[in-house]
Amino acid sequence: MRLYDSLTRGLVELPPSPGPIRIYVCGSTVYQRIHVGNSRPFVLGMWVRNWLRHTGYEVTFVHNITDVDDKVYAEAVEQGVPSRQLSERATAWFFEDTNDLGLGRPDLEPRATETIPEIVQFIQELVDGEKAYVANGDVYFSVARFPEYVRLSGARLEEMISQETSDLKQDQRDFALWKSQKPHEDAAWDSPWGPGRPGWHIECSAMAEKFLGPEFEIHGGGNDLRFPHHENELAQSASLGHAFAKIWMHNGMLELDQAKMSKSLGNVVTLRNVLDVWGRESLLVFHLSGAWSKPVDFDDDVMQQASARADRLRDVFRGIHQPAPAGSWERFSDALDDDFNTPAALAVMHEWRDHELLRRALGVFGLESLAENDEAPPEVAALAQRRQAAREVRDFEEADRLRAELVEAGWEMRDETNGHRLVRLR
Ligand SMILES: [Zn+2]
Repeated sequence: MRLYDSLTRGLVELPPSPGPIRIYVCGSTVYQRIHVGNSRPFVLGMWVRNWLRHTGYEVTFVHNITDVDDKVYAEAVEQGVPSRQLSERATAWFFEDTNDLGLGRPDLEPRATETIPEIVQFIQELVDGEKAYVANGDVYFSVARFPEYVRLSGARLEEMISQETSDLKQDQRDFALWKSQKPHEDAAWDSPWGPGRPGWHIECSAMAEKFLGPEFEIHGGGNDLRFPHHENELAQSASLGHAFAKIWMHNGMLELDQAKMSKSLGNVVTLRNVLDVWGRESLLVFHLSGAWSKPVDFDDDVMQQASARADRLRDVFRGIHQPAPAGSWERFSDALDDDFNTPAALAVMHEWRDHELLRRALGVFGLESLAENDEAPPEVAALAQRRQAAREVRDFEEADRLRAELVEAGWEMRDETNGHRLVRLR
């Protein structure tokens, strides 16, 4: 299998199976219900893990939870609640909402607040190696000491110096590893430099290396994290001589057209709201339809299309099984092994009328549920038979009334060449 790597800007081959393949994907900052856009790296990570395991790899997938961050403190002040209470509540929402995607859980989901000793140790090593310096309770990474800086992101000087300017910095490109406690911050941890808390970037270097070691295969996250977050992670780890990630897998962002979305979701484009309105299957098919490394539009139209595609896949299991021609699975498998091309894999799946093969492919994406053929309960089947009888005697008024009753019960009667069948409305 090969994947596009943002660092070398080319395709990189994974080691042969069984690997191991170690994956770290940056998770959400927990201070409110997560945005639907945050579901993309989670879903992608779970799918890549599933696919690699399916093809015989040993995989460890780490997805962190950023539960200490400027945003957490700011929102806590706004709401007048303790910051720890806010992040605990938002972490519970994160678990609830991502559980409802029905993909299971990553192997490890470390929280920044549970990794403080490792983070402090990491910073100490950078200070000892003169890659970082202490200034009035803060610790800063010295960008001038890392000549390869901006290799990953290609960030310009203006972008670098716009990050949190401070008189304590020796160079405005430098970034904080440890931040001393501010008056509005109600939670802090002890450190050799005084009470405070870690910077966001060092949290991920420490969490990734704690669970995966100083060198691992894949580092994922949204394309918006390339700079400064991932550039800084790489600088911190590489400065200690750690190889860190071999492949940087940056997923494209969801592009929301507020006007084209207002009908279904209003202004609340949280994962929770999307799951409630469209359901998990439509959301997963939406994610399948777009190339992972490219930006994708997200609005009512594309969700409608995804929902229709999910229905088409479901319909296959209501039809007659037809064995797929030899080599069908290989076409599917080749698409995924070639930079995890899910749109191509989905196109292959749409050709199949082979129940076994389609069920197996859907399983890779947590969509086995589409293969569950719904059996109408007896009272619904009886209604359908009465409607059929009414139509046979041309009592269309009664037939319409019974159709409405079926819809009320959540079922639709579809005509077929030899009779009718009942389809559950979703
Ligand atoms: Zn991160």
